[in-house]
Amino acid sequence: MTQDTFTIPDFAELRQLVATHGHAAEVLRALRSERLDINGLAALLSPAAENLLPQLAARSGQITAKRFGRTIQIYAPLYLSNFCINRCAYCGFSAGNRIERRVLTMAEAEEEAMILHGRGFKHILLVSGEAPARLGVDYLVELAARLRERFASISIEVQPLEEEEYARLFASGITSVAVYQETYDRGIYSQVHHGGRKCDFDYRLATPARAAAAGMREVGIGALLGLADWRLEGLALGMHLAWLRRHYWRTALTVSFPRLRPAEGGFQPLVTVSERMLSQLIFALRIFDPDVGLLLSTREEARFRDGMVGLGPTRYSAGSCTAPGGYAHPELAGEQFSVGDHRSMQEVCADICRRGYDPVRKDWDATFQIQDGGGEMSAAAL
Ligand code: SF4
Repeated sequence: MTQDTFTIPDFAELRQLVATHGHAAEVLRALRSERLDINGLAALLSPAAENLLPQLAARSGQITAKRFGRTIQIYAPLYLSNFCINRCAYCGFSAGNRIERRVLTMAEAEEEAMILHGRGFKHILLVSGEAPARLGVDYLVELAARLRERFASISIEVQPLEEEEYARLFASGITSVAVYQETYDRGIYSQVHHGGRKCDFDYRLATPARAAAAGMREVGIGALLGLADWRLEGLALGMHLAWLRRHYWRTALTVSFPRLRPAEGGFQPLVTVSERMLSQLIFALRIFDPDVGLLLSTREEARFRDGMVGLGPTRYSAGSCTAPGGYAHPELAGEQFSVGDHRSMQEVCADICRRGYDPVRKDWDATFQIQDGGGEMSAAAL
């Protein structure tokens, strides 16, 4: 069971930290450091680091090459359901939006997965709105049983679950959980979450730890950019990351940087996060944590994603559709948000290759999973 809990300082405190360490001298010191503490991260996220963005990019690229080589892992999301009991102001799936709702049958979900498999995807991310009565743990266990022999890894981005539920999913072949806090600013969190279980800020904040405690091989955290000050979200992400590393050193960690995209409901971002700002955030977190996997999804445009190859991100989604059933039936409505990069997986991979990097479709197999007793767990035995 999880014993300790992560808490996040008030954003006023984080703002003070950035102001205190936001000087050119501290930025340069952080760029020269082998190991960065949270004060160094604050310096790299500060306005003082904006003039040194090329230096941040170079350091971030150097660390990324040393730790990950010239590779970018490729994955695809598979949307299973757009039912949701929550009312998030910024999301097309919000319970208040009048969209066509569906949850895929097991056969439909398998068909979608096999389309992705046929396109060459080996890493798959199962995504759904948060409606446990429509799509719960039993559904995921059954689907994992159907897919686990065909994919190198199965990840989920669904409603927060209990530790025992994560343990059951891990036993069924799901090895990775992504759960984004959306914003670490409590005030703004309550302002944009109007109803449903998601209103409980602390329960969500403790979810990555529950997944890690259950033995998940990988846990992903993230903030939805466009809600609160991105510098402070970056600092909060760094603190969360460092806490998870200290408490769950066996779990691999990833961070996502989804920027708000146009969606049903017409929500407008509360703050602007430009590509330049997003770049600074990515570089700062890479320098802060050399081992963390950094995701850049198809929310971003092809031009920006191409330009970021080799500078920090290690994982790209490709050929994504955000409507349940949308791979087999592209005409279906009910997407979560509109994507910014419309290239196929082959096109994304070709552009990565052109930049001298390898798009990696498979870099893990369940056979590698080491059990507590030191023995190996084969995919067939899962
Ligand atoms: S962000 Fe997630 S929880 Fe909120 S409405 Fe969308 S699908 Fe539901």
